[in-house]
Amino acid sequence: MRTVCAYCGVGCSFEVEDKLKGVKSYPVNEGMSCSKGISQIETIEKNRLLNTYINGKVAKYEEAINLIAKKIKNSNPKKIGFYLSGQMLNEDYYVANKLAKGFIKTPNIDTNSRTCMASAVVGYKKTIGSDYVPVKLSDINHTDLLILIGANPAEAHVVLFNKIKRAKKNGMKLVVIDPRFSDSAKYADLYLPITPGGDIDFLNLVAIRLIKENLVDMNFIEKWVDGYDELKKNLLKLNEKELLAKSGIDARDFEKFMEMLKNAKNFITGWTMGINQSIQGVDKNLAIMNLHLITGQINKKGSGPFSFTGQPNAMGGREVGGLATTLAVHLDYTPENRKKVASFWGVDEVCDGPGLTAFEMIKAANEGKLNVLIVCHTDPVYHLPNRKFVEEALKKIDLVVEINAYEASETSKFADIQIPAAPFGEKDGTQTNMDRTLTRSKAFKEKKAKQDWEIFADIGKAIGFRGFDFTSSKDVFNEYKEMTRLSPDIDIYKANYDELENKPFIWGEDALKNGFLTENKKAKVYYVENKELHEMPDSEYPFILLTGRTRDQWHSGTKTAFVEKLKKYKHLSFIEINEEDAKSLGINEGDEVKVISRYGKLKTKAKITDIKKGSIFISIHDRNVNYLTNPNIDPISKEPDYNHTAVKVVK
Ligand code: SF4
Repeated sequence: MRTVCAYCGVGCSFEVEDKLKGVKSYPVNEGMSCSKGISQIETIEKNRLLNTYINGKVAKYEEAINLIAKKIKNSNPKKIGFYLSGQMLNEDYYVANKLAKGFIKTPNIDTNSRTCMASAVVGYKKTIGSDYVPVKLSDINHTDLLILIGANPAEAHVVLFNKIKRAKKNGMKLVVIDPRFSDSAKYADLYLPITPGGDIDFLNLVAIRLIKENLVDMNFIEKWVDGYDELKKNLLKLNEKELLAKSGIDARDFEKFMEMLKNAKNFITGWTMGINQSIQGVDKNLAIMNLHLITGQINKKGSGPFSFTGQPNAMGGREVGGLATTLAVHLDYTPENRKKVASFWGVDEVCDGPGLTAFEMIKAANEGKLNVLIVCHTDPVYHLPNRKFVEEALKKIDLVVEINAYEASETSKFADIQIPAAPFGEKDGTQTNMDRTLTRSKAFKEKKAKQDWEIFADIGKAIGFRGFDFTSSKDVFNEYKEMTRLSPDIDIYKANYDELENKPFIWGEDALKNGFLTENKKAKVYYVENKELHEMPDSEYPFILLTGRTRDQWHSGTKTAFVEKLKKYKHLSFIEINEEDAKSLGINEGDEVKVISRYGKLKTKAKITDIKKGSIFISIHDRNVNYLTNPNIDPISKEPDYNHTAVKVVK
């Protein structure tokens, strides 16, 4: 039997025996897997939430469902929120989305993918017309140059990085751009220690040089790109020396980078949260897209802008409609789309949107504008920024429901109702990885709790809605796949549920055959500049806090933190600090330190590394990290700025 990994966006296929083993014939992972992925078999049984609780007391499941249904019926739909997760399968997303937008008629349904991918979603939509990733993992085998900016796949996407290492042996060059000398940087042909917040300056400088040295592809631009003249005019007004100084990159290193770029017949740029999680996350994405569009390095083998997804099914959530900013299957909230979707679901009308995004729901709660919040397979109290504010806001919501497979989340402390759900291994359905590959997640253990979609369907039925009599995950999938016929680019209607276990289905393979996904089939480039909106270090808070994943841990550690063999790699709580900075503060390796921001503080231990002077790093696996982080969000993508909080460090 085969299933797919429930940890990261690579989406490795596993053979299930007494242990999990990477499937050799599966193109995504080609037999590879990582220690975190295969450890999941040990975690299924441990730490499980198996009872339903109402106000901390064990209760009957039906009683909880009826209570939720009653509260929803008596609430203004605009005051109801659903907070979903990239850990949910497509079928779980589909039923939750149908229930919220089609029947309860609230647009306030967002996923935790908002906190990692939303800036990339907007970047793709603005430039190529749709949230479509125009690169595949196999392209790495055909590129001359891979530029990683704000990404550390050696720790966050281990199998992807194994593919990168293999491509390097075959001649591919690797550039890593990161303020932190990460594990990925150790393998780079060129490492560029950028200043936090200097990304747009660097990317604009590259674009200027490409223009000035006639390295742009004018044939491609004339045929396929709008906005080039405006972009060129604005870029050429900028001062190159100033851009270089603001990027923090050494002039000789920058020239080395330009030589590598010039010598490459094609290139891929890969990025994750170091770019997306920023108050200018969308602009940073646009600056990356500009480089690919002006050189024509997109939509051909071995080239393109590749946003790596963090969670196993963040992509699926984007496709089904788990983001508050889309209606369903990549359809925006236009009157025409609302009609189409209403007719598909057999309702008079669907909600009007867009709805409140993840952090906006918390802000609404704080203002007393949210009565019900249903949180599914995620932990917003742990992962949203400015945690003290989040905690206070949750206390103001009448009914907080937590649906989760595991106990002891930070959000559980604020839940009025807790409902147990099936985890990986017990649930069945499909998920989409970072390169649009749809794979079957197959149950191989006896189910100890209901699957998410069953819980959402039960809530729908308890309210009295029809259209929730699904009999299986396949039944849900088949309705979802029919819905993709309404989509401008998703062709999942061609997939066959039963075949997905052995044969992956990559959606949208022909999507760019006749041009980009905009009305006139042309992509668009945008001039962006570093507006320096992020927090800046000052004399009181002289360091910039960076956050990120570390190898073999997953989020708050609900599952990975107690797997003995994973603990040997990295501790969950530490700060990385530069040697000179540590010396000036009298801090030695292993010393206990306090990190303080304008929003809160935490205690941890110091680890002296090669991180760029003036920056510190704390892993997201430290459950307290968001007591420190700032509340800024990108104004368009609404993605939080986890990587630019000014802090001080005290021994
Ligand atoms: Fe799972 Fe990602 Fe590891 Fe593959 S690389 S086994 S998908 S955690």
